[in-house]
Amino acid sequence: MENVIIIGTGCAGYTAAIYTARASLNPLLLSGTQPGGQLTTTTEVENFPGHPDGIMGPELMMKMQAQAEKFGARIAWASVESVERKDDGNFILKAGSDSYEAKTVIIATGAAPRHLGLPGEQKLIGHGLTSCATCDGAFYRDVPVCVIGGGDSACEEADFLTRFASKVYLIHRRDTLRASKIMAERTLANPKIQPVWNSTVSEYLTDEKGEVRAVTLKNLVDSGESEIEVACVFVAIGHTPNSGFLGDLVDKDENGYILQVPGRTATKTPGLFAAGDVADHYYRQAITAAGQGCASALEAERYLSGHAH
Ligand code: NAP
Repeated sequence: MENVIIIGTGCAGYTAAIYTARASLNPLLLSGTQPGGQLTTTTEVENFPGHPDGIMGPELMMKMQAQAEKFGARIAWASVESVERKDDGNFILKAGSDSYEAKTVIIATGAAPRHLGLPGEQKLIGHGLTSCATCDGAFYRDVPVCVIGGGDSACEEADFLTRFASKVYLIHRRDTLRASKIMAERTLANPKIQPVWNSTVSEYLTDEKGEVRAVTLKNLVDSGESEIEVACVFVAIGHTPNSGFLGDLVDKDENGYILQVPGRTATKTPGLFAAGDVADHYYRQAITAAGQGCASALEAERYLSGHAH
Protein backbone atom coordinates (compact mmCIF):
# COMPACT_ATOMS: atom_id res chain seq x y z
CA MET A 1 0.00 0.00 0.00
CA GLU A 2 1.51 3.31 -1.12
CA ASN A 3 0.82 6.63 0.57
CA VAL A 4 0.91 8.46 -2.72
CA ILE A 5 1.30 7.44 -6.32
CA ILE A 6 2.14 10.16 -8.81
CA ILE A 7 1.22 9.37 -12.39
CA GLY A 8 3.51 11.20 -14.79
CA THR A 9 7.10 12.45 -14.71
CA GLY A 10 6.89 15.93 -16.19
CA CYS A 11 7.37 19.15 -14.23
CA ALA A 12 4.19 18.63 -12.20
CA GLY A 13 4.98 14.99 -11.36
CA TYR A 14 8.58 15.57 -10.31
CA THR A 15 7.71 18.60 -8.22
CA ALA A 16 4.95 16.64 -6.47
CA ALA A 17 7.54 13.89 -5.89
CA ILE A 18 10.10 16.27 -4.37
CA TYR A 19 7.53 17.67 -1.95
CA THR A 20 5.93 14.36 -0.95
CA ALA A 21 9.35 12.71 -0.58
CA ARG A 22 10.59 15.51 1.67
CA ALA A 23 7.38 15.05 3.70
CA SER A 24 8.46 11.40 4.27
CA LEU A 25 5.55 10.01 2.27
CA ASN A 26 7.85 7.75 0.21
CA PRO A 27 6.10 8.50 -3.12
CA LEU A 28 6.05 6.17 -6.10
CA LEU A 29 6.14 7.78 -9.55
CA LEU A 30 4.82 5.94 -12.57
CA SER A 31 6.61 7.39 -15.54
CA GLY A 32 4.21 6.93 -18.43
CA THR A 33 5.23 6.46 -22.02
CA GLN A 34 7.13 9.76 -22.26
CA PRO A 35 9.37 9.93 -19.18
CA GLY A 36 10.25 13.55 -18.49
CA GLY A 37 7.18 14.87 -20.26
CA GLN A 38 6.90 17.59 -22.86
CA LEU A 39 10.16 19.36 -21.93
CA THR A 40 12.10 16.38 -23.19
CA THR A 41 10.89 17.35 -26.66
CA THR A 42 12.16 20.93 -26.51
CA THR A 43 15.63 22.31 -26.84
CA GLU A 44 16.74 25.23 -24.70
CA VAL A 45 14.46 26.45 -21.90
CA GLU A 46 15.09 30.12 -21.15
CA ASN A 47 12.11 30.93 -18.98
CA PHE A 48 12.44 28.51 -16.07
CA PRO A 49 13.53 30.65 -13.09
CA GLY A 50 16.93 29.89 -11.66
CA HIS A 51 18.60 29.24 -15.03
CA PRO A 52 19.75 32.66 -16.24
CA ASP A 53 21.78 31.12 -19.06
CA GLY A 54 18.98 28.78 -20.10
CA ILE A 55 18.96 25.01 -19.76
CA MET A 56 18.20 22.24 -22.21
CA GLY A 57 14.75 20.76 -21.61
CA PRO A 58 15.98 17.15 -21.20
CA GLU A 59 18.71 18.30 -18.78
CA LEU A 60 16.18 20.20 -16.67
CA MET A 61 14.04 17.08 -16.44
CA MET A 62 17.05 14.91 -15.49
CA LYS A 63 17.85 17.36 -12.72
CA MET A 64 14.28 17.27 -11.46
CA GLN A 65 14.42 13.46 -11.49
CA ALA A 66 17.72 13.48 -9.57
CA GLN A 67 16.27 15.92 -7.02
CA ALA A 68 13.20 13.72 -6.50
CA GLU A 69 15.32 10.57 -6.17
CA LYS A 70 17.71 12.28 -3.76
CA PHE A 71 14.85 12.54 -1.29
CA GLY A 72 13.83 8.91 -1.83
CA ALA A 73 11.15 9.07 -4.53
CA ARG A 74 10.92 5.79 -6.42
CA ILE A 75 10.26 5.69 -10.15
CA ALA A 76 8.78 2.79 -12.07
CA TRP A 77 8.16 2.57 -15.78
CA ALA A 78 4.45 1.98 -16.13
CA SER A 79 1.70 3.32 -18.31
CA VAL A 80 -1.43 3.43 -16.18
CA GLU A 81 -4.50 2.17 -17.98
CA SER A 82 -7.14 2.55 -15.27
CA VAL A 83 -7.72 3.92 -11.78
CA GLU A 84 -10.49 2.69 -9.49
CA ARG A 85 -11.51 3.79 -6.03
CA LYS A 86 -12.40 0.99 -3.65
CA ASP A 87 -15.09 1.17 -0.97
CA ASP A 88 -12.41 1.78 1.67
CA GLY A 89 -11.30 4.93 -0.19
CA ASN A 90 -8.02 3.52 -1.48
CA PHE A 91 -7.13 3.42 -5.15
CA ILE A 92 -6.20 0.53 -7.43
CA LEU A 93 -4.13 1.41 -10.48
CA LYS A 94 -3.71 -1.04 -13.34
CA ALA A 95 -0.79 -0.95 -15.75
CA GLY A 96 -0.55 -3.97 -18.01
CA SER A 97 -0.27 -7.02 -15.77
CA ASP A 98 0.86 -4.88 -12.80
CA SER A 99 -1.43 -3.38 -10.23
CA TYR A 100 -0.71 -0.81 -7.54
CA GLU A 101 -2.64 0.29 -4.46
CA ALA A 102 -2.45 3.77 -2.94
CA LYS A 103 -4.16 5.99 -0.41
CA THR A 104 -3.80 9.07 -2.63
CA VAL A 105 -3.10 9.59 -6.31
CA ILE A 106 -1.75 12.66 -8.07
CA ILE A 107 -2.52 12.77 -11.77
CA ALA A 108 0.24 14.62 -13.58
CA THR A 109 -0.08 13.04 -17.00
CA GLY A 110 0.14 16.27 -18.99
CA ALA A 111 -1.19 16.96 -22.43
CA ALA A 112 0.08 16.09 -25.82
CA PRO A 113 0.23 18.81 -28.47
CA ARG A 114 -1.59 17.70 -31.54
CA HIS A 115 0.36 17.38 -34.78
CA LEU A 116 -0.65 17.09 -38.39
CA GLY A 117 0.45 13.46 -38.69
CA LEU A 118 2.79 14.07 -41.63
CA PRO A 119 5.64 11.63 -42.36
CA GLY A 120 8.82 12.39 -40.37
CA GLU A 121 7.02 14.93 -38.19
CA GLN A 122 8.03 13.50 -34.82
CA LYS A 123 11.74 13.57 -35.74
CA LEU A 124 11.54 17.30 -36.54
CA ILE A 125 10.35 18.29 -33.07
CA GLY A 126 13.10 20.54 -31.73
CA HIS A 127 14.58 20.94 -35.23
CA GLY A 128 12.32 23.68 -36.52
CA LEU A 129 9.03 22.15 -35.46
CA THR A 130 7.53 23.07 -32.10
CA SER A 131 4.25 23.72 -30.36
CA CYS A 132 5.49 26.37 -27.94
CA ALA A 133 6.19 29.92 -29.10
CA THR A 134 6.91 31.01 -25.52
CA CYS A 135 9.64 28.36 -25.31
CA ASP A 136 11.20 28.58 -28.74
CA GLY A 137 10.14 31.86 -30.36
CA ALA A 138 13.21 33.82 -29.30
CA PHE A 139 15.46 31.45 -31.24
CA TYR A 140 13.98 32.67 -34.51
CA ARG A 141 14.96 36.34 -34.78
CA ASP A 142 14.74 38.15 -38.10
CA VAL A 143 13.70 35.07 -40.05
CA PRO A 144 10.26 34.06 -41.39
CA VAL A 145 8.28 31.47 -39.44
CA CYS A 146 4.77 30.05 -39.70
CA VAL A 147 2.02 29.10 -37.31
CA ILE A 148 -0.54 26.43 -38.21
CA GLY A 149 -4.04 26.81 -36.75
CA GLY A 150 -6.84 29.34 -36.49
CA GLY A 151 -7.78 29.28 -32.78
CA ASP A 152 -6.82 31.49 -29.85
CA SER A 153 -3.56 29.58 -29.39
CA ALA A 154 -2.52 30.11 -33.00
CA CYS A 155 -3.32 33.84 -32.78
CA GLU A 156 -1.53 34.20 -29.47
CA GLU A 157 1.54 32.35 -30.78
CA ALA A 158 1.55 34.39 -34.01
CA ASP A 159 1.28 37.69 -32.11
CA PHE A 160 4.05 36.66 -29.72
CA LEU A 161 6.33 35.56 -32.56
CA THR A 162 6.16 38.97 -34.26
CA ARG A 163 8.49 40.19 -31.50
CA PHE A 164 11.26 38.12 -33.03
CA ALA A 165 10.50 36.88 -36.51
CA SER A 166 10.76 39.01 -39.66
CA LYS A 167 7.38 37.67 -40.79
CA VAL A 168 4.80 35.23 -39.44
CA TYR A 169 2.63 33.24 -41.84
CA LEU A 170 -0.60 32.12 -40.19
CA ILE A 171 -1.70 29.03 -42.05
CA HIS A 172 -5.34 28.11 -41.51
CA ARG A 173 -7.44 25.47 -43.20
CA ARG A 174 -10.50 27.74 -43.51
CA ASP A 175 -10.98 31.41 -44.44
CA THR A 176 -12.12 32.61 -41.02
CA LEU A 177 -10.41 32.29 -37.68
CA ARG A 178 -11.94 30.26 -34.89
CA ALA A 179 -10.26 32.53 -32.35
CA SER A 180 -12.24 34.98 -30.24
CA LYS A 181 -13.11 38.24 -32.03
CA ILE A 182 -10.66 40.39 -30.12
CA MET A 183 -7.75 37.99 -30.69
CA ALA A 184 -8.63 37.51 -34.35
CA GLU A 185 -8.88 41.26 -34.99
CA ARG A 186 -5.60 41.98 -33.24
CA THR A 187 -3.85 39.22 -35.17
CA LEU A 188 -5.18 40.28 -38.57
CA ALA A 189 -4.27 43.91 -37.87
CA ASN A 190 -0.64 43.01 -37.16
CA PRO A 191 1.40 44.01 -40.24
CA LYS A 192 3.99 41.30 -39.58
CA ILE A 193 1.38 38.52 -39.76
CA GLN A 194 0.34 37.25 -43.16
CA PRO A 195 -2.67 34.93 -43.13
CA VAL A 196 -2.64 32.05 -45.57
CA TRP A 197 -6.28 30.97 -45.88
CA ASN A 198 -7.80 27.67 -46.93
CA SER A 199 -4.44 26.02 -46.73
CA THR A 200 -2.64 23.28 -44.95
CA VAL A 201 0.97 22.17 -44.74
CA SER A 202 1.42 19.03 -46.78
CA GLU A 203 5.18 18.59 -46.33
CA TYR A 204 8.07 19.86 -44.20
CA LEU A 205 11.24 20.57 -46.18
CA THR A 206 14.60 20.35 -44.40
CA ASP A 207 18.16 21.49 -45.00
CA GLU A 208 21.27 19.33 -44.94
CA LYS A 209 21.36 19.46 -41.12
CA GLY A 210 17.81 18.16 -40.88
CA GLU A 211 16.40 21.53 -39.76
CA VAL A 212 13.16 22.87 -41.23
CA ARG A 213 13.83 25.38 -44.03
CA ALA A 214 10.44 25.56 -45.82
CA VAL A 215 7.00 24.00 -46.04
CA THR A 216 4.85 22.91 -48.93
CA LEU A 217 1.38 24.41 -48.76
CA LYS A 218 -1.70 22.82 -50.20
CA ASN A 219 -4.60 25.08 -51.08
CA LEU A 220 -7.74 23.23 -50.03
CA VAL A 221 -9.98 25.11 -52.51
CA ASP A 222 -8.11 24.61 -55.77
CA SER A 223 -5.65 21.87 -54.61
CA GLY A 224 -2.75 24.05 -55.81
CA GLU A 225 0.66 23.60 -54.17
CA SER A 226 3.23 26.25 -53.28
CA GLU A 227 6.31 26.53 -51.10
CA ILE A 228 7.21 29.13 -48.47
CA GLU A 229 10.53 29.50 -46.72
CA VAL A 230 10.26 29.36 -42.94
CA ALA A 231 12.89 28.67 -40.31
CA CYS A 232 10.38 27.21 -37.88
CA VAL A 233 6.85 25.80 -37.88
CA PHE A 234 4.72 26.40 -34.78
CA VAL A 235 1.87 23.90 -34.68
CA ALA A 236 -1.10 25.27 -32.74
CA ILE A 237 -3.93 22.96 -33.61
CA GLY A 238 -4.84 22.14 -30.02
CA HIS A 239 -3.67 19.84 -27.24
CA THR A 240 -5.09 16.57 -26.03
CA PRO A 241 -4.95 16.13 -22.25
CA ASN A 242 -3.92 12.66 -21.18
CA SER A 243 -7.00 12.05 -19.07
CA GLY A 244 -8.74 9.23 -20.91
CA PHE A 245 -7.94 6.46 -18.41
CA LEU A 246 -9.77 7.95 -15.40
CA GLY A 247 -13.37 6.95 -16.09
CA ASP A 248 -15.85 8.94 -14.06
CA LEU A 249 -13.50 9.53 -11.09
CA VAL A 250 -13.00 13.06 -12.42
CA ASP A 251 -15.14 15.61 -14.19
CA LYS A 252 -13.68 17.04 -17.37
CA ASP A 253 -14.39 20.00 -19.60
CA GLU A 254 -15.51 19.50 -23.19
CA ASN A 255 -11.88 19.12 -24.32
CA GLY A 256 -11.00 16.47 -21.73
CA TYR A 257 -9.15 18.70 -19.25
CA ILE A 258 -9.72 17.59 -15.64
CA LEU A 259 -11.83 19.99 -13.59
CA GLN A 260 -10.25 20.83 -10.26
CA VAL A 261 -12.00 22.26 -7.23
CA PRO A 262 -11.62 26.01 -7.94
CA GLY A 263 -8.29 27.32 -6.64
CA ARG A 264 -7.14 23.84 -5.66
CA THR A 265 -5.72 20.69 -7.23
CA ALA A 266 -8.38 18.46 -5.64
CA THR A 267 -10.79 16.71 -7.99
CA LYS A 268 -14.32 15.59 -7.23
CA THR A 269 -12.94 12.33 -5.79
CA PRO A 270 -11.41 12.58 -2.29
CA GLY A 271 -7.74 11.64 -2.32
CA LEU A 272 -7.39 12.16 -6.08
CA PHE A 273 -5.53 15.29 -7.19
CA ALA A 274 -4.67 16.68 -10.62
CA ALA A 275 -1.73 18.93 -11.43
CA GLY A 276 -0.24 20.52 -14.52
CA ASP A 277 -1.29 20.44 -18.13
CA VAL A 278 -3.80 17.61 -17.71
CA ALA A 279 -5.91 20.13 -15.80
CA ASP A 280 -4.68 23.40 -17.32
CA HIS A 281 -5.47 24.47 -20.86
CA TYR A 282 -4.77 28.09 -20.04
CA TYR A 283 -1.14 28.59 -18.94
CA ARG A 284 0.54 25.34 -20.04
CA GLN A 285 3.98 26.41 -18.82
CA ALA A 286 6.65 24.30 -17.12
CA ILE A 287 6.71 26.60 -14.13
CA THR A 288 2.92 26.65 -13.67
CA ALA A 289 2.87 22.85 -13.91
CA ALA A 290 5.62 22.69 -11.26
CA GLY A 291 3.59 25.06 -9.07
CA GLN A 292 0.55 22.83 -9.33
CA GLY A 293 2.69 19.79 -8.58
CA CYS A 294 3.77 21.45 -5.36
CA ALA A 295 0.15 22.34 -4.49
CA SER A 296 -1.04 18.79 -5.15
CA ALA A 297 1.67 17.38 -2.88
CA LEU A 298 0.68 19.69 -0.04
CA GLU A 299 -2.97 18.77 -0.51
CA ALA A 300 -2.19 15.03 -0.56
CA GLU A 301 -0.13 15.43 2.61
CA ARG A 302 -3.00 17.23 4.36
CA TYR A 303 -5.49 14.63 3.15
CA LEU A 304 -3.34 11.81 4.53
CA SER A 305 -2.96 13.50 7.89
CA GLY A 306 -6.71 13.98 8.11
CA HIS A 307 -6.48 17.73 7.82
CA ALA A 308 -8.03 18.16 4.37
CA HIS A 309 -10.66 20.84 4.18
P1 NAP B 1 -8.80 25.25 -30.76
O1 NAP B 1 -9.64 26.40 -30.35
O2 NAP B 1 -9.39 23.89 -30.74
O3 NAP B 1 -8.30 25.59 -32.23
C1 NAP B 1 -7.56 24.67 -32.95
C2 NAP B 1 -7.34 25.25 -34.36
O4 NAP B 1 -6.56 24.32 -35.08
C3 NAP B 1 -8.64 25.49 -35.13
O5 NAP B 1 -8.56 26.66 -35.87
C4 NAP B 1 -8.68 24.27 -36.03
O6 NAP B 1 -9.28 24.53 -37.29
C5 NAP B 1 -7.23 23.97 -36.27
N1 NAP B 1 -7.00 22.57 -36.53
C6 NAP B 1 -7.38 21.51 -35.76
N2 NAP B 1 -6.96 20.36 -36.31
C7 NAP B 1 -6.31 20.71 -37.46
C8 NAP B 1 -5.66 19.99 -38.46
N3 NAP B 1 -5.56 18.64 -38.43
N4 NAP B 1 -5.10 20.65 -39.50
C9 NAP B 1 -5.16 22.00 -39.56
N5 NAP B 1 -5.77 22.75 -38.63
C10 NAP B 1 -6.33 22.11 -37.59
O7 NAP B 1 -7.45 25.12 -29.90
P2 NAP B 1 -6.60 26.26 -29.16
O8 NAP B 1 -6.43 27.42 -30.05
O9 NAP B 1 -5.39 25.57 -28.62
O10 NAP B 1 -7.53 26.68 -27.95
C11 NAP B 1 -7.95 25.71 -26.99
C12 NAP B 1 -8.80 26.41 -25.94
O11 NAP B 1 -7.99 27.28 -25.16
C13 NAP B 1 -9.90 27.29 -26.56
O12 NAP B 1 -11.02 27.23 -25.74
C14 NAP B 1 -9.29 28.68 -26.53
O13 NAP B 1 -10.27 29.71 -26.50
C15 NAP B 1 -8.49 28.62 -25.24
N6 NAP B 1 -7.36 29.56 -25.33
C16 NAP B 1 -7.56 30.81 -24.85
C17 NAP B 1 -6.56 31.76 -24.92
C18 NAP B 1 -6.80 33.11 -24.41
O14 NAP B 1 -7.94 33.46 -24.16
N7 NAP B 1 -5.78 33.94 -24.24
C19 NAP B 1 -5.32 31.41 -25.46
C20 NAP B 1 -5.14 30.12 -25.95
C21 NAP B 1 -6.18 29.21 -25.88
P3 NAP B 1 -10.88 24.84 -37.40
O15 NAP B 1 -11.04 26.25 -36.93
O16 NAP B 1 -11.13 24.65 -38.85
O17 NAP B 1 -11.55 23.81 -36.54
